[in-house]
Amino acid sequence: MSTTIEERRRFALRAGVALEGATPQEILTWALGHFHPNLCIASSMGDAVLIDMASKIQPGVPVIFLDTGYHFAETIGTRDAVASVYPANVITILPLRTRVEQDAEHGPRLHERNPDLCCALRKVEPLARGLSAYDAWASGIRRDEASTRREIRVIDWDEKRSMVKVNPLAGWTQSQVDDYIATAGVLVNPLVYDGYPSIGCAPCTRRVADGEDARSGRWSGTGKTECGLHV
Ligand code: SF4
Repeated sequence: MSTTIEERRRFALRAGVALEGATPQEILTWALGHFHPNLCIASSMGDAVLIDMASKIQPGVPVIFLDTGYHFAETIGTRDAVASVYPANVITILPLRTRVEQDAEHGPRLHERNPDLCCALRKVEPLARGLSAYDAWASGIRRDEASTRREIRVIDWDEKRSMVKVNPLAGWTQSQVDDYIATAGVLVNPLVYDGYPSIGCAPCTRRVADGEDARSGRWSGTGKTECGLHV
């Protein structure tokens, strides 16, 4: 895009107002129409709802997955299944340091002692590197997931990265997601049906009890609620 950052920011915010209330597929159609092949989807492989929708609209859509080295085996299995089932280009991004190298530099179990630094090294930096080739990115975050996500727009401006951020599912509820999964036969990480409605790295994710907030199992007991990718 040959426009200034301020022009792109205003363009995104205007689009967010215009598309508020549109369906996720309408939002994705608009975004892919404007930005493909310079738009990618970031997925944590909890489910493939966004990938299912986007790859039906634009086969070959790039999908970024951050392999932190701490994922559950089920999450890696879901990534592999998604890559073989959907017509999407799944791209795995690795941190700059292996777990062993990180342990040597920062000491073992950094995720227990300083999860913000661990997320910065294993999620935030790799995402920035992965996104550097694109003008826009999309993810499946929703307003009803957390108080920190209540204000997200369907088309937003990512100040930190100076990119357009697309949140097609922003206005959906969990029950709308569940209905779409059932109707479209979407691939879902098996952990979702085993007490993990929100899935991150294994050391920082616990099962939640019935009725507990879906994201309460993430960094439980630390006060940390976000990894720094979205908010
Ligand atoms: Fe490290 Fe935990 Fe963040 Fe994963 S979620 S990068 S293990 S602190």
